[in-house]
Amino acid sequence: MSDNALPVASGERVREVARQLIRRHRGELLVVICLHAVAALSGLVGPWVIGRMIDLLSTGRADMGTVDVMCLLLAGAVVAQALVTRFAQLWSLRLGESVFARLREGFLATVTSLPLGVVERAGTGDLLSRTTSDVDAVAQTVRFGVPRILVTGMTVILTLGAAFILNPLVAFGILAGVPVIVLSSRWYLKRSGPGYRRQLASYGRLVGVINETVEGARTIDALDLAPLQRVKIDRALAARNAAERYTLGLRSVWYPLTTVGFLLPVIAVLLWGAFLMGQGLATAGDVTAIALYAMQLTGPVEELVNWMDRLQVGTTALSRIVGVAEVPTDRPDADEHPEGEQLEARGIRFAYREGVDVLRDVDLVPRVGERIAIVGPSGSGKSTLARLLTGITAPTAGRVTVGGADVMRIPLAVLRQHVALVTQEHHVFVGTLADNLRLAAPEARDGELEEALQVVGALRWVRSMPQGLETMVGSGGVVLTPAQAQQVALARLVLLDPHTLVLDEATSLLDPRAARGLEQSLDRVLEGRTVIAIAHRLHTARDADRIVVMRDGRIVESGSHDELVGMGGEYAALWASWQAESAEEPAG
Ligand code: ADP
Repeated sequence: MSDNALPVASGERVREVARQLIRRHRGELLVVICLHAVAALSGLVGPWVIGRMIDLLSTGRADMGTVDVMCLLLAGAVVAQALVTRFAQLWSLRLGESVFARLREGFLATVTSLPLGVVERAGTGDLLSRTTSDVDAVAQTVRFGVPRILVTGMTVILTLGAAFILNPLVAFGILAGVPVIVLSSRWYLKRSGPGYRRQLASYGRLVGVINETVEGARTIDALDLAPLQRVKIDRALAARNAAERYTLGLRSVWYPLTTVGFLLPVIAVLLWGAFLMGQGLATAGDVTAIALYAMQLTGPVEELVNWMDRLQVGTTALSRIVGVAEVPTDRPDADEHPEGEQLEARGIRFAYREGVDVLRDVDLVPRVGERIAIVGPSGSGKSTLARLLTGITAPTAGRVTVGGADVMRIPLAVLRQHVALVTQEHHVFVGTLADNLRLAAPEARDGELEEALQVVGALRWVRSMPQGLETMVGSGGVVLTPAQAQQVALARLVLLDPHTLVLDEATSLLDPRAARGLEQSLDRVLEGRTVIAIAHRLHTARDADRIVVMRDGRIVESGSHDELVGMGGEYAALWASWQAESAEEPAG
């Protein structure tokens, strides 16, 4: 799986993305920094005033008037700090939100344009965890982390500055904690990056296995695969556990060391300050004020160090998100445009794994408007051929063209207006019915949507819905029946209006009654189009203009129903056995 996992961006690339984001929001960032600077500066007034008061009182130079003024100054500074902090926070949060919104928009655009083949190979777990937990981790960092790092970083710098201005000699005491914090943090950060990357990847694998278990529950039950599946889950859980334990272990060493790092400066300032006072190099006021500054630093430094840690999780998550954009596109120079409606597949060969061809020397050239049914035993390559014909996957050799243009070189949006694949999966997206239809034709007016619904025979039930086209559907809204969902999908096709349709088992999953109604809808959609249907039931193949029989990745027979039955070959045998089966179970 790791060979196929989606790429992870390099540190360089992540820094570049971060720089771009900063550049784009330069103005807002400047406002935020200024506001936080003012807030931090007002926070520094307190200790300074207290220090001065001590000096004035201890030397007997203070009168009550001066003390009053100093108390007012102290109160004013506190009020100013509270007010400015409020606005600074507001602006930071706003900045965080807009940065995050941009990131998310970019990411969604990338995810939705990923080549389908890549997503399938990587497994859904990887992409799911990137779109959920990784996006959450980045959101946390951007929303709260970046603003807090700005605030605390600024506070630390300004506080140190104030201490050094007040009395540089005493202020040196504050630096006593620096070696402990720097050394322990370097030790930690060197190990935590890879640790967190492993942790996030292990989460992706766990989600993948669980997802696969839930989605394949029936198969697992039917084939009695539960013990095997449990072993897989246990293994994924164990890997996750080990990864979590590793980072937890790192934190349990690093946190206590940094706590020592915060306390040392206060102790050092007091001892060192007392010594300097003895030498006449500092006043009691200086030492008090700087000791207060050292204590004031504890909060911001602790928070800063904490955020450095979480920043790692955020950066790792970001590298996984940015990495998705590094998936090479499967249509690098899509600049061809079809002229005409002729679909042609010539000399097609295809292998999922090197050396194992599942399609060999396949030629298929439907006449415009022709109905072709492809039949053959399971595993003979029918679905694979459907994916190649619709340009989802590129053939290993040979070419599929439509209107003379290679399907892999036609921009996807253009290709889908010519050739579309209809599968048995009919997803209803969360949104209104109109939204669901406009996926195929964003510009379509309500009248056009209704016409399309009319064609597939769905207009009546849509009109009877509480809000008609504006009814919310999908999870959380009205739940459509499978038949309705399929009609919506068909209406989308009508709006998309491709001249060639490739059907893969379009109606086989539905109950027969619904299927009959749907076949009528489908017939109307197919009218006037070239149709290549993968027929898993022979009775639908019978009416086709041409039946193509596949076996072991090759086309072995081709002709009308009567011709093929007359030939007495592969198709005749399939037909005979199918008839015998349906005679045994008339209901089936
Ligand atoms: P059909 O539609 O006729 O049942 P398919 O096109 O699904 O046949 O499969 C053709 C062959 O390709 C089968 O041997 C199948 O096991 C193999 N195959 C299908 N999908 C994949 C895949 N994603 N990876 C590897 N092999 C695959």
